[in-house]
Amino acid sequence: MKKEEVFIFGHKNPDTDSICASLVSERLDKKNGWDCTVAKRLGKVNKETQYVLDYLHLEAPEMIDKVEEGQEVCLVDHNEFNQSIEGIEKAKILSVTDHHRIANFETSEPLYYTAKPYGCTCTILFEEYKRLGHEINKEEAILMASAIISDTLLLKSPTTTEHDKKALAELEKIAGMDIQEYGLNMLKAGTDLGDFSEAELVNLDAKNLDKDGNKFVIAQVNTVSIEDVLKRQKDLESAINSEIEKKGLQLFVFAITDILNSNSEIIALGNRTDAVEKAFDVKLENNRAFLPGVVSRKKQLLPDIDKNM
Ligand code: MG
Ligand code: MG
Ligand code: MG
Repeated sequence: MKKEEVFIFGHKNPDTDSICASLVSERLDKKNGWDCTVAKRLGKVNKETQYVLDYLHLEAPEMIDKVEEGQEVCLVDHNEFNQSIEGIEKAKILSVTDHHRIANFETSEPLYYTAKPYGCTCTILFEEYKRLGHEINKEEAILMASAIISDTLLLKSPTTTEHDKKALAELEKIAGMDIQEYGLNMLKAGTDLGDFSEAELVNLDAKNLDKDGNKFVIAQVNTVSIEDVLKRQKDLESAINSEIEKKGLQLFVFAITDILNSNSEIIALGNRTDAVEKAFDVKLENNRAFLPGVVSRKKQLLPDIDKNM
């Protein structure tokens, strides 16, 4: 009898780490003789990730939008239920492999849980290959390298750890490519925002967060020109305001991150923008503030905003 499939997936609005970590985990499980896990995804593939898939001539994992009660699942690159799939509360979570804070998460049964404060889920997976003595092939190396480049912005983000640096150096050797050049092209592919509507832009990489019932969102887009994105401020604000209304949010922070100069401009709307002003000791002007040196939602935006919510 064929064993039921186990779904493995990253967070909603998937980024490169979420997609690559699911694909790599599926491959790692097979090497461990466990062939029932299948990579899935919880949303549209973004342009940066599409660049990686095209480079490797790989298909994206199948998209799913809910799971049935009792469905066996493995989570990568997230744990918070509000960032996961519809029905996750009643799914059977077999494992989590993640590099984020642990919040809004609970299970009724024991599970495997690997949490490391690294810059990327794929760095954790890289170390798993090493620990288990599995060889990493070129395709796996490029998948993991792409995720590390994406999450750490080519090792420039303050989320970068020695583990990420070591992993990327070794993966570069296996991949046999100039990782700076590949990485910059990959990141740039993700900054092509032209054909997205404002509604799509504010949801492209949005994280739903919850502080004691206060719902807020921190969304982020990468760009090579903050100014270009700000030309659309008025329409972005309309899109943000409809998200606030639709989801009953207290706050929506939209971070426009300059990946070349490592700065962000934020647009903040909602009735708790005071949390943002306190967090960064800034006064919003025209609903905006410039945050020099800020590129990481996880380390530089979320903790301080969350504290002040
Ligand atoms: Mg992610
Ligand atoms: Mg990640
Ligand atoms: Mg990210």
